[in-house]
Amino acid sequence: VTTLATLPTLRARSLGSKAALILRDEPLSYEALEHRSNQAAHALLREGIRPGERVAILGKESLDALVLLFGAAKAHAVYVGLNWRLAPEELAYILEDSGARMLFVDEESAALVPRVFEKMRGPLPVVRVGAKQDAPGTFSHWCAGAADTPLTETYDAEDVVVQLYTSGTTGRPKGVQLPHRSLLAIAHELEAHGERWIGWTEASVSLLFVPTFHIGGLWWLVRGLALGCTQVVLRGFEPATILASIPRYRVTHTCMVPAMMQILLSEPGLQQTDLSSLEAIVYGGAPMSTALLEKGQRLLGCGFAQIYGMTETGNCAVCLRPEDHLGALPSRLRAAGRPFPGVKVRILDEQGQEVAPGAIGQICLHSPARMAGYWRQPEETRKTLVDGWVMTGDAGYVDAEGFVYICDRVKDMIISAGENIYPAEIENVIRSHPEVADVAVIGVPDELWGEAVKALVVKQPGSHLRAGDILRHTRGALAEFKVPKSVEFTGPLPRNASGKLLKAVLREPYWKGRE
Ligand code: AMP
Ligand code: MG
Repeated sequence: VTTLATLPTLRARSLGSKAALILRDEPLSYEALEHRSNQAAHALLREGIRPGERVAILGKESLDALVLLFGAAKAHAVYVGLNWRLAPEELAYILEDSGARMLFVDEESAALVPRVFEKMRGPLPVVRVGAKQDAPGTFSHWCAGAADTPLTETYDAEDVVVQLYTSGTTGRPKGVQLPHRSLLAIAHELEAHGERWIGWTEASVSLLFVPTFHIGGLWWLVRGLALGCTQVVLRGFEPATILASIPRYRVTHTCMVPAMMQILLSEPGLQQTDLSSLEAIVYGGAPMSTALLEKGQRLLGCGFAQIYGMTETGNCAVCLRPEDHLGALPSRLRAAGRPFPGVKVRILDEQGQEVAPGAIGQICLHSPARMAGYWRQPEETRKTLVDGWVMTGDAGYVDAEGFVYICDRVKDMIISAGENIYPAEIENVIRSHPEVADVAVIGVPDELWGEAVKALVVKQPGSHLRAGDILRHTRGALAEFKVPKSVEFTGPLPRNASGKLLKAVLREPYWKGRE
């Protein structure tokens, strides 16, 4: 399997009626995935969608949405997955930036759409996904009438098939263009090297509850289907449903971010749940504390593997394998792991020179799964993708055995509950308040979310600004998860000679004495 377009076709041929997806207890076979994605592709062509044009999807996971992913691939369209937690203004920006031609939206997010279109030059054609009834305007109604015959197209693994948005230090989100290769290359490398990795096979049953609008969930979805296993997909992180689904479907493999692990481990039903089918849990996306990892190993009793990577590297670049977790020294559990087959790691200093072995610098990754570049941002692309190397903006080092350790972030980013948050975006909004003289947004430790957003605000002279005013000002303009959890008013903020905020100095008192 080298493209998303041919994946359903090839798997339908060998697996036919086997369940590819199970969503809300409704199964969809590989054969049905092939037919329905053909239909979706024909329907897109009927709408006049041309190769390389974008279609956007807003909502929680549904069979329709997953069928559309493969349908779009078959029609040579580019699938833009949107985070349904974003505010209307943020969604409008992404829809306009991507040049989306159509919007597919679920019931829950539909209410948001008029407010999104209000902020745009004009509305887009809308199709409703995940609807229970087959009414006009719904996905199945829209597909009906289109042929389910295979398309007579050829596909190139280098063609862009998905575009996911990721924020940056400059504030505005950038579209990461992912070719088919980004979603399938690491799987090919694993197979070429005969590596078992997490023991994932066609006979496995996978549980997916991290969103597919992030690279982690999308990669996991595609990888499992390319293997031919059954993917049980939940509409989000619902701890009780997760615990019920594991014994029910005899789930063998799943993935999550550390914040989800933290919540799952304190879920009341955990002790009574039969977890004997679980073989491996993959975690990543944010730093995992050794204490949490050890607790997970103790309570869940299965193998663990860590992934480190980013949207720009097509997810997986570095992996702490299950065998690295066994009988490991606590120091080894602090590693992110060793490169996946086919991936190379280099640590560079600020001048772009390779540092001495063991020294700390910027982690740079060369992966066969790297992005094609940022959408319409050649300048940003040149900065991040240098001769095929992705500049991660993460600081770290490599030990004598080749294990990569992440120390801190060069980039100014907060990871809260698995969502990446760039302070610049929040600072811009807060600074626009007439009574704010200066502001710095930092991440502070949070038991549940990993990090919490904190705003340090300097008032204009004579202002009676309160925390509530800042929160009201940011709500509506930004997604709820970006709204500060705490606001503190302070005196002048420390800056360097060139006026750059000294974030490390501001963070220090909160992080002192932590791992
Ligand atoms: P994204 O592009 O949204 O997938 O975010 C990628 C960023 O998440 C990386 O550059 C890291 O800063 C962080 N990250 C991903 N995986 C890990 C991990 N295993 N440990 C620590 N941080 C991680
Ligand atoms: Mg990112």
